[in-house]
Amino acid sequence: MEAIQHEKGQISIHTENIFPIIKKFLYSDHEIFLRELVSNAVDATQKLKKLASFGEFNGELGELKVTVKLDKEAKTITVSDQGIGMTAEEIKKYINQIAFSGASEFLEKYKDKVDDKGAIIGHFGLGFYSAFMVAEQVEIITKSFREGSEPARWVCDGSTEFEITSAERAEHGTDVILHIAPDSEEFLDTSRLQSILEKYGKFLPVSIEFDGKTINNTAPIWTKSPSELQDEDYKNFYKELYPFSEEPLFWIHLNVDYPFNLTGVLYFPKIKNDFQIRREKIQLYSRQVFITDEVKDIVPDFLMLLHGVIDSPDIPLNVSRSFLQSDSNVKKINGYITRKVADKLAEMFRNDRASFEQKFDDIGLFIKYGIISDEKFYEKAKDFSLVKTVDNKFYTFNEFREAVQANQTDKNGTVTWLYTTDRQKQDGFIESARKRGYEVLLMDNVLDPHFINTLESKLEKISLKRVDSDTLDKLIDSGVSNESVLSEDDQNKLKTLFEAVANDKAVTVSVEAMPTDELPVTITLPEFFRRMKDMSALGGGNQMMFGALPDSYNLAVNANHPLVDRILKADEDAQKTLAKQLLDLAKLTQGMLSGADLTAFVRRTAEGL
Ligand code: ADP
Repeated sequence: MEAIQHEKGQISIHTENIFPIIKKFLYSDHEIFLRELVSNAVDATQKLKKLASFGEFNGELGELKVTVKLDKEAKTITVSDQGIGMTAEEIKKYINQIAFSGASEFLEKYKDKVDDKGAIIGHFGLGFYSAFMVAEQVEIITKSFREGSEPARWVCDGSTEFEITSAERAEHGTDVILHIAPDSEEFLDTSRLQSILEKYGKFLPVSIEFDGKTINNTAPIWTKSPSELQDEDYKNFYKELYPFSEEPLFWIHLNVDYPFNLTGVLYFPKIKNDFQIRREKIQLYSRQVFITDEVKDIVPDFLMLLHGVIDSPDIPLNVSRSFLQSDSNVKKINGYITRKVADKLAEMFRNDRASFEQKFDDIGLFIKYGIISDEKFYEKAKDFSLVKTVDNKFYTFNEFREAVQANQTDKNGTVTWLYTTDRQKQDGFIESARKRGYEVLLMDNVLDPHFINTLESKLEKISLKRVDSDTLDKLIDSGVSNESVLSEDDQNKLKTLFEAVANDKAVTVSVEAMPTDELPVTITLPEFFRRMKDMSALGGGNQMMFGALPDSYNLAVNANHPLVDRILKADEDAQKTLAKQLLDLAKLTQGMLSGADLTAFVRRTAEGL
């Protein structure tokens, strides 16, 4: 066999035209061309200011601004700056090289931005290139700030041919003139351009003028030091970001420069009990250029409902989602935000517990979500997170354990935390618990089913039970016997009677000795099954499995109740009537009586009066 010759070589790819590539890959988000060009203009301006501050530029700075002009007739959009400008050599170096690096390099450079299906996700910076998404010809007229520089003109139609000639320009700076392509004429519209500029350039550090107006606030508060700012400033900035929102509860000023650079202000909005549809979102900026309000991965999930601004030059904006998830800076930023939020909450709790409690109905949702979803957050939050009783008293986890320990520990040493999901519907059960001196927690928001599970798994020897999930003596089994005082014979009679009256396989009847002033018959719903159903309703469990669970329930007959004694002494017919009436009463307290059954119950009751 012939040996293969060792050979090295190059596969060359030639592209005549970068248009098709750019258009193919950038089918969406064409509007970012304006962000890119205005950012370049701002950069050029900032560079000149820097040079002036180093003494490398001695000319008159004046009030440097960037101007965007629309000429509908000529079908051009022009971005002009008074920045450093470029010499003809610099154009060749900075502009040509990128523009003519060819398809292979283009793909190489942007391969991270393309997902498995070859689609580009999200926003990213393409720089000067992006002009060709909307223009059939791009013209640059520029003059470098360096003394004695010749103004130059560069023209290119997106093919590999370009032209550089001398030009007329009195002052340093650059005009980039886009001759808009026929398929992009939608951009030849004043209000469209205005809204694109406002979206991306609202907080750019150099004045941006369009249509005779300045569109930006060049010094947003996140660029300032917290010591320079009053509460009013934060509130005003919030209004600037979200003009139609209620005042925020409080805010956190983020400011870190190691190991990554990040500034920003996060606001806690009033959320109350439910997740509203998210209209306002956290906005992500890079050096004051708006990038996106899709902050997934950068902001921890449980803080997605916060509002505000994050600005970081260290967040890789030029990459796809999947890359973002694995980026170590993004992970660090995520961790940092979690830590800052936890620290701020801890500080509020320490410094002013009363006001912390007042805000808890609003911020409790964040805290619970954080506890459920983020181990690190839980470690901090376990000391300041609160639970609330039906009497509107707040306790930390430890405080609550201590408060109920003496009264609510069962014979195995497990402390039962009773809770209600509906103060109104479970009122009878809450009353009974209170009579025994038990505390009942209010767990009535959407996250509570998950929160309860999390608490049980994190807190040792704590078991949470809904007040109506069993009779109280069984829920908190103190070891005192609640065996019925009735004879076995009587107990069996009652069981058979109530089973016959209930006529439902899902019902289990028990006879228990309860206080005489408690209801004669109580219906309880087993904690385990109910919780599974709650979870599956939230999408947390297996819908197929638990959605189809029968509504099994327990029926506890209070052996000590005088009516039970009456039943035992009555004749067969009266027994049935009484038992039916008691069963319906119990169902009523659990909201289980409706329709024809309810009507019949009301009739029978009225007749008996
Ligand atoms: P990037 O801005 O990411 O470096 P661009 O493709 O946007 O990439 O621009 C390439 C280079 O061209 C810039 O780094 C800069 O040197 C030069 N440039 C672009 N626009 C201007 C401008 N308005 N004024 C001066 N130089 C510019």
